[in-house]
Amino acid sequence: MQKLQNYINGELVAPVGEQYIDNYNPATGKVYSLIPDSDERDVNLATEAAKAAFPKWSVTPKEERSRIMLKVSELIEKNLERLALAESTDNGKPVALARMVDIPRAASNFHFYATAILHFASESHAMEDTALNYTLRSPVGVAGCISPWNLPLYLFTWKIAPAIASGNCVVAKPSEITPMTAYLLSELCMEAGLPKGVLNIVHGYGHKVGSAITKHPAIPLISFTGGTKTGAEIARVAAPMFKKLSLELGGKNPNLIFADCNFENALKTTLNSSFANQGQICLCGSRIFIEKSIYEKFKSEFVSRAKAMKVGNPADSSSKLGAVVSKAHMEKILSYIQLAEEEGGTVLCGGHQVKQEGEFAEGYYIAPTIIEGLPHDCRTNQEEIFGPVVTIAPFESEEEVLKYANSTQYGLASIVWTENLTRAHRLAGLLHSGIVWINCWLLRDLRTPFGGVKNSGVGREGGFEALHFFTEPKNVCIKLK
Ligand code: NAD
Repeated sequence: MQKLQNYINGELVAPVGEQYIDNYNPATGKVYSLIPDSDERDVNLATEAAKAAFPKWSVTPKEERSRIMLKVSELIEKNLERLALAESTDNGKPVALARMVDIPRAASNFHFYATAILHFASESHAMEDTALNYTLRSPVGVAGCISPWNLPLYLFTWKIAPAIASGNCVVAKPSEITPMTAYLLSELCMEAGLPKGVLNIVHGYGHKVGSAITKHPAIPLISFTGGTKTGAEIARVAAPMFKKLSLELGGKNPNLIFADCNFENALKTTLNSSFANQGQICLCGSRIFIEKSIYEKFKSEFVSRAKAMKVGNPADSSSKLGAVVSKAHMEKILSYIQLAEEEGGTVLCGGHQVKQEGEFAEGYYIAPTIIEGLPHDCRTNQEEIFGPVVTIAPFESEEEVLKYANSTQYGLASIVWTENLTRAHRLAGLLHSGIVWINCWLLRDLRTPFGGVKNSGVGREGGFEALHFFTEPKNVCIKLK
């Protein structure tokens, strides 16, 4: 069975403790590879390697850093099919989705920051003829990057690329649930000629590897994407050490669908924003509020199209939904469906596991699930489920739906469907979220600030925001006379 290895100081190495964790294929429920069960000792080695590489990498001309990163991007593109298959096997997502979204986006992340760094300038502030201030922006040193399982390579590279583009060296940890493409990335970085120690990838559990990165005194910056509870734990450890923190956390995103929307576009996109990647995208809309006059029509179309979505083998191009990521996660999702029923909800479609045949019989499949009849403040509507489960509810006024939309502890994204321009802009200003999509979903320009408010996170990724985060500003003031 394939044993993955850590990537430390430019080499693939076994974990110091020589222990491994089973890696499951969610589509079959079978173990198919082994992941290093690394610990603090491996993080220490990775940090030493990153520290040693930093002085040279931080002064390597940005054109050279850019050239190597462009090479990594090209290699990701060249290996598209292999990486897409690996992502699908590791995560359970349809291979078509990995081929269309995850892997091209990972290549774009490298490409985007390889070029962004060439245009990254710092500010100056002239005090007329008295003095001149200018801001120096220097890389911070060793950056700790910790990422989740839902968009494995996509989110892993979204952190690593700006970190190394701006001259930092990195100790990174992918999710132990989906380590495969991070491992393949280490091979591609070696092939691209990334100098040793610039990127180090340590595999293993959060409570061992993630926690060792968070508390390591030589890692002054942590970029984390994952659950809100984990984010709070990281902040608890890192804040008293005065580390720079970027936390991209959970969501419970509302869809606000008004009667004057383009009905077909709203319907089609809402199916996607509900069930893409089995609902396991932090940006999925899981609370769907529909204006009363179109509620019944929308509901009946939405339910009938959701019922028609095929759930099955992720490698089969007719499967719209693959497997959810793990047995534990499947059980969590099913327990939320049970909770919704206990809270008085009616399951309009789905609500159960989907049993497959043959080699997929032990896989983790859940039918797209739509629930109605729940108040906006019940647990089902307040807590993140992170699966193919949405609730629908009618509303009568803009004021009412705004109250529902803003009623959770989260504030990542909101989706508004209306052809009324004034209302769209008004709501965009009033919704408590870091991102508002109007008449679309998941349309992304990598230059825009990305992140959430309230318990959805602290800080922003994307564009120059990330380059600001991964550099430390220093003001220099020169007296002119
Ligand atoms: P998670 O918090 O369980 O794990 C995320 C990462 O943190 C993993 O690599 C894990 O091993 C590590 N980790 C766990 N405990 C740790 C600790 N004590 N110290 C340091 N690291 C630790 O999240 P998950 O289940 O992998 O991902 C799903 C969550 O991620 C959802 O809540 C989802 O909304 C969120 N998410 C947010 C965004 C965003 O951009 N805001 C994007 C994707 C996913």
